[in-house]
Amino acid sequence: CNKVPVLLEASRTMITGSTGFIGHFVAEACLDRGLPTYLLVRPSQNSPSKAATIRFLQNKGATIIHGCIKDQKLMEKVLKEYKIEVVISTIGGNSILDQLVLVEAIKAVGTVKRFLPSEFGHDVDRANPVEPGLRMYNEKRRVRRAVEGSGIPYTYICCNSIAAWPYHYNTHPADLLPPLDEFLIYGDGTVKAYFVAGSDIGKFTVKAMNDVRTLNKAVHFRPPNNLLNINELASLWEEKIGRTLPRIIMTEDDLLTATKELPIPASIVASFTHDIFIKGCQITYSLDKPSDVEVCSLYPEAPFQSIDRCFDDFIQKVLDAAKVTSKPTGKDGILVTTPKPEPPVITA
Ligand code: NDP
Repeated sequence: CNKVPVLLEASRTMITGSTGFIGHFVAEACLDRGLPTYLLVRPSQNSPSKAATIRFLQNKGATIIHGCIKDQKLMEKVLKEYKIEVVISTIGGNSILDQLVLVEAIKAVGTVKRFLPSEFGHDVDRANPVEPGLRMYNEKRRVRRAVEGSGIPYTYICCNSIAAWPYHYNTHPADLLPPLDEFLIYGDGTVKAYFVAGSDIGKFTVKAMNDVRTLNKAVHFRPPNNLLNINELASLWEEKIGRTLPRIIMTEDDLLTATKELPIPASIVASFTHDIFIKGCQITYSLDKPSDVEVCSLYPEAPFQSIDRCFDDFIQKVLDAAKVTSKPTGKDGILVTTPKPEPPVITA
């Protein structure tokens, strides 16, 4: 592992966790890029929606491999048999330590040229959320140290927040529409964060995974146009729906209470919300370590989807899901929608 591993454009890539929230964006991006894509799927856990995701990805050309990353022998066999060069893990937050077995398998086989562990959030060596979020970061840190100690070539994807309304209790905020009744504004609402479309998380992960410049680096997603505070996010959504909504302040103390009183995983999300919108964990450090790279400077020619455009997609979902009447009005043709008491949930 002392030599720089050469990766071809069309690397044989295995993704574990592709039926999950972040994983399906990554798997789709891999397939859209035309890479030989192998999806490791646990056979026994397929709900109808997961089965539909697998079918969708299979129709795009993915090869399905049944197995669990906790089975080291099986993992070694799969990595060898399919000649896997890149492994991307998008394992969920409650299974982070399962990756330690996968790391052992990758190390034993010795042919994987890049491993991307399940990160897809903040730089866990810098951010320090309160509990119970801290426990997950400690687990992600443990996986990082295992990867580094084993000499496996790696890339850490620090993509910051997914473009959506940041509900403080929801692990998959992009699955919910932004509010249609009232906003909860965290603190004074002035702390900024980066909001990245799920499809861009996939697209730039796949670009970075076989780029020699990202070898043994943390790739930070900081698209300047998608840096907003929650007041600005609320105003943007108000523009889209063509009306204003009440803004309720959720103080730092309220958020800290939520970290203690909500059940897991909502309490974990509350601790990240506190870290982002009260402590400013995405913006209070500069990328000054030799191991830092920023994705916009790596790929200046590749645009990020704007948060404005992401909110347009949500408006479309409001119309589709709630079947509200809409008409363009005013000089900007802003949509006017009939208010509903609760934001409709798009997916379960
Ligand atoms: P999900 O819980 O949605 O999905 C987890 C996936 O991992 C599922 O496909 C699951 O498979 C699979 N899996 C879990 N354990 C195993 C195993 N032992 N063997 C094989 N497959 C397994 O995960 P998320 O998308 O929420 O989380 C992925 C990463 O993204 C996490 O690191 C999380 O912290 C981060 N994240 C970042 C967000 C952001 O805004 N930046 C938002 C949400 C998550 P099965 O279908 O069999 O259960």
